[in-house]
Amino acid sequence: MKIAAFIHDGVPCVGLLGADSQSVQAFEVTRAVAAKGALPIVELLSRGEPLPKLLTPIALDSVRLTAPIPQPRRNIFCVGKNYYAHAREFAGSGFDSSAKAGGDIPEVPIYFTKVPECVVGPTDYIDIPVGVSEAIDYEVELAVVIGKGGKGIKAADAMQHVWGYTIINDVTARDWQQRHLQWHLGKSFDSFCPMGPWLVSADECDGTNTQVRCYVNGELRQNASTADLIFNIPTLIETLSAGITLYPGDVIATGTPVGVGIGFKPPKYLQHGDLVRLEIDGIGSIDNPVRRLP
Ligand code: MG
Repeated sequence: MKIAAFIHDGVPCVGLLGADSQSVQAFEVTRAVAAKGALPIVELLSRGEPLPKLLTPIALDSVRLTAPIPQPRRNIFCVGKNYYAHAREFAGSGFDSSAKAGGDIPEVPIYFTKVPECVVGPTDYIDIPVGVSEAIDYEVELAVVIGKGGKGIKAADAMQHVWGYTIINDVTARDWQQRHLQWHLGKSFDSFCPMGPWLVSADECDGTNTQVRCYVNGELRQNASTADLIFNIPTLIETLSAGITLYPGDVIATGTPVGVGIGFKPPKYLQHGDLVRLEIDGIGSIDNPVRRLP
C-alpha cells in the first residue's frame, strides 16, 4: 500500500493512494490524527490493528501532498558516506571533516540526525538562508520507515522491522558541515528535509535493490542502485538498534550516491530558481523548487 498525507479543501488528511496513482482515499480519522500523516497509521498497523474506514476516492490532482510524516516523532536518523563512489567524492572535496588520511571508506556506519522540524513536503521550497549559508547541496536518499520497533535487532531479522520506504532529500549547508566538525547543524536548517511523495510498504518496493536518481533543472546528477550501499539496510538497523530502541515510524535515511554538488569543480551549489527532482523506482518522485530567503 501507499500511504499519502495531503491537504484537501484546507483540511489535513491521510489516506491510501489508488492503484492507478490518480486518486486518494482519506481514512476516517480525527483532524488531529490526520495532521500526523502516516505516522499513526504505521503505528496501528505495527500493533496488528486494522486500517480505519476509507472515505470516497478523490482525484490526486485536487489535493496538495504534504510530507507523508510531516512531524516525525523524533530526529531523522541519517547515514553518511554509504556509497563507495560518494565516499571518495566527499573525502576529495575538502569538505569532509570526518575524513582520515587513506581512509575514505568508513569501517562502520557514520550516523547523524536531522531535526524533525526541517521536514517539508514533496513540492515545497528548499530555502537558501541568505546571510547564513549559500553553499547548499542536494542528496537523494532512500529512507527506511520502521514498522515493528525493537532494540538489539539482528541483521538477519532486520527486514521484518521495515514497514516501508519513502524519498528524502538530505539537503546540506556544506560550509556548516565542514566548519562545525559535525553534520547536525548544516543538515537541519529549516526546509532541509523534503520528503515524499508517500510511504510505500515493503511488499511493494524492494528497497535493497532499487534505483535512486536526482535531477537539477532536468540534468541527471545522481543515479545509483541501493544494492551498492556500503552498509546495507539490515546492517544499518542492527547498528542503530544496538543501543537505541527503535519505534514505529522512525525514519532512517540510508545515504546518498556520487554526484552531489561539491563533487564538481567548482561546486554546483543550489541556486534560486533551481528545481530538484528526486526519483526512486517503486516509490515515485518529488520536485522541490529552490529560493533565496532573505
Ligand atoms: Mg546524506
